[in-house]
Order: sequence, then C-alpha cells, then structure tokens
Amino acid sequence: MSTDAPWMRAARAAGLVGADGSVRTTIFAEMSALAAEHGAVNLGQGFPDDDGPPEVLDSAVEAIRGGVNQYPPGRGFAELRAAIAEHQQRFYGLTVDPATEVLVTAGATEAIAASLLALAGSGDEVVTVEPFYDSYAAVIGLSGARHVTIPLSEPGFQPSAAGIDAAIGDRTRVIVLNSPHNPTGSILAPEHVERIVAAAARHDAVIVSDEVYEHLVYDGARHRPTATFAGAAARTLTVSSAAKTFSVTGWKIGWVTGPAALIEAVLGVKQWLTYVNGAPFQGAVARGLRLDDSFFDGLRSTMQRRRDLLAAGLVDAGFTIAPTAGSYFIVADGSRLGLTDAAASARALAVDPGVVAIPLSAFGRASGPGVDPIVSPSALRFAFCKPDAVIAEGVRRLQSLRR
Ligand code: PMP
Ligand code: GLN
Repeated sequence: MSTDAPWMRAARAAGLVGADGSVRTTIFAEMSALAAEHGAVNLGQGFPDDDGPPEVLDSAVEAIRGGVNQYPPGRGFAELRAAIAEHQQRFYGLTVDPATEVLVTAGATEAIAASLLALAGSGDEVVTVEPFYDSYAAVIGLSGARHVTIPLSEPGFQPSAAGIDAAIGDRTRVIVLNSPHNPTGSILAPEHVERIVAAAARHDAVIVSDEVYEHLVYDGARHRPTATFAGAAARTLTVSSAAKTFSVTGWKIGWVTGPAALIEAVLGVKQWLTYVNGAPFQGAVARGLRLDDSFFDGLRSTMQRRRDLLAAGLVDAGFTIAPTAGSYFIVADGSRLGLTDAAASARALAVDPGVVAIPLSAFGRASGPGVDPIVSPSALRFAFCKPDAVIAEGVRRLQSLRR
C-alpha cells in the first residue's frame, strides 16, 4: 500500500502511524490486551464489568427479536431523539427541538469526530484542555487543523485565566471542553467556563462540550452543561453517550444536541462516516433516558463508593492521589514507590503485581528536547468503574509494591 495516500499523511502528522507506516493501536487497546495476556486486574480502559439496567438490556433484545434490524432514519429514531430532548429538559432545563437540534451518532466518538471534521480544517485552530481524551488529538490531526491546548494544573486540574486567554484567538474555530474530565476526574470551575464562553463569543468559535460523564458527579454536586451558561447555547454542541450512563460501552450510541444549523453541519459529515447506527439499541437507550431518578442516583452512589474504595486503597499502597469530582478515574502518582516513569511502570505493573493502569502521558502531547511535558510523566490513571471485589483485588496486589 502506498504510504503517500493523503489519509496516511494526515495520520502520520496526527501521530497515528509509526515510522514504518504501521497503524498504532490506542493506549486503551494496548493496555487491555496486556491485562488479558497477564491475567492482570484491568483498571485501565474505562469500561464497567457489570451490566446496565435490565429493562434497558431487555428492550434491546426485544427490538432485535421484534425486527428492528434495518437502517434507522439519518438523525436517529424519533423516539430516541424525543427522549434525549426530554432528558436535557428534565435534568438541566435545556430546551432542544428533537426534530432539528438532536442527532444520534455512533458513540460520543463519532459525535466528536463528525463535529470537528465539519467545523475545522487546514488553517484553523482547535483548542482543548491538556491532558485531553486521546480521540480529540487524533481527529484534529485528521482534520488538518492545528491543535492548541490550555494546560490544566494541580491542585484540582484547572486551567488558569492566562492559559485560556493565550490559547483562544482569531484562528480558533472550535473549543472542545470535557467536564467531568477524562483522564483527571476534575470538573471545570464555573468561572473558567464563563471565561471560555466569552472568548468563544469574541472570536466566533464553536464549543463542543463532551459531557459523557454527566451522571457521574460526586459528593452531592450536580452536573452543569456548558450550554446552560449565559451566551453559550447558540454556539455549543453538547455531546453525550449511553456508554457510561447505562454501562453499555459496546453499543456505541451517542448523541449531539445544539443549534439546528450546527447539527445540520455535523449530520453532513456523520452521514458519510456511518450513515446511521445501532437501530435495535436506540429504543433501549430511550427507555434508559426515561428511567426514574432512583436509577441515576443509584449509579452515582455506587460509583462514588467505588471511587472511595480505590482512593483509600491507592493511598494505602503508597500512591499520592488527586481528588476525583466526577468520571470513572483517579490520577495517582507512584513516585514514592519508585514509579517515576509512568509509561514504563504501567507496562511493568501489568506483569507484576498484575494491575493495569494508563500512563497519564497518553493524554498529553509528546515532549522532547526543550519541550517540557504539560502532563506529569509519573502520573497514572486508574479506573474504578469495577465491582468492589475487583477493586479490592487490584488494591491487594498494589500493596505488594510497598514491600
Ligand atoms: N469522550 C470521553 C471523555 C470518553 O471518556 C469517551 C470514552 N469513554 C468517549 C468520549 C467516547 O464515548 P463513546 O464510547 O460513546 O464513543
Ligand atoms: N473512554 C475509555 C477510557 O478512557 C476508552 C474508550 C476507548 O477505548 N476508545 O478508558
């Protein structure tokens, strides 16, 4: 195969292929394969081990048996679009028109990819925070736009006002936000969202707000979508997914809501990527979105308990941890245990003591001579979306590092 193909050039520029032209696997696929190979406790890739609500699963089975197996409409079944609109109203008081302001996608991944490919290209800049979810950098690279980042720093993994002002400018076409944040578990403080919305308005940029962890917010806090901030709704595409809320990461049902003209632009790309997706799962997700508050409260309290279990275990094993306000993840530093190079330690820990985590550097840009990394090279991301017994076994193994 010719390595001069345009997609290859774009992919190489985006760091998606090695020097020999081979396609690089994602860090999640690589670390899950290592976990399987070594029988390690997988606290790496963020997927739950337990199934989601039975009525949601049953609904998908019934749909397949009932013949819902052909192409759904391009924007998604009306029933799911209505349920998404109801959900935005019920939880956040946001009004979206299910006919024109909602698009169902193949997971949040496609919603993000189609949004970026629709709105940014060569000569444009796309801003994200750093660390960032890996697919953002890959798709920005494929779009031909330049990736500019706003560093997040501890404590609290927040940006600075100066960092926001420096990153957003006249070339900025899109600003990708992600709160609750993967990989750090932080929630973007309202004053930073306000500053980013004001900068977006000044430079006429679109905000793509990735809110896949919207129902995983802890300690009594509540999620606040970017679109609810003054002046934001008219320029914000809100992205979410069934994956995390209903523990169905393999279904790949996501959605994007926002102004009709922006949704139309995203649809223009989505229809050539996958055309449509997941017919029998769409009604099931609609059912899930309409579940009682008790389901959403139960999910939150289960995950909070697991967060606390893993946090206590990591501290006990000798890690220094950052507080998690939302998401599936805890950032932990093992320097005191001699784990100063997280990329190397993550691979070593998979073998002995048999626990998989993700090096935080996978969510940052490559550093090099004269380029200091923004993401700490000694930090690891651990996922707690696992049964208590799995977390306990992971912790038990990690405790052997102290000896
Ligand atoms: N955004 C973030 C922040 C994520 O963590 C993930 C994956 N869990 C996605 C997007 C992709 O979601 P999906 O699996 O629905 O494509
Ligand atoms: N979002 C998941 C994580 O951060 C991984 C999803 C994937 O493997 N693409 O762990």
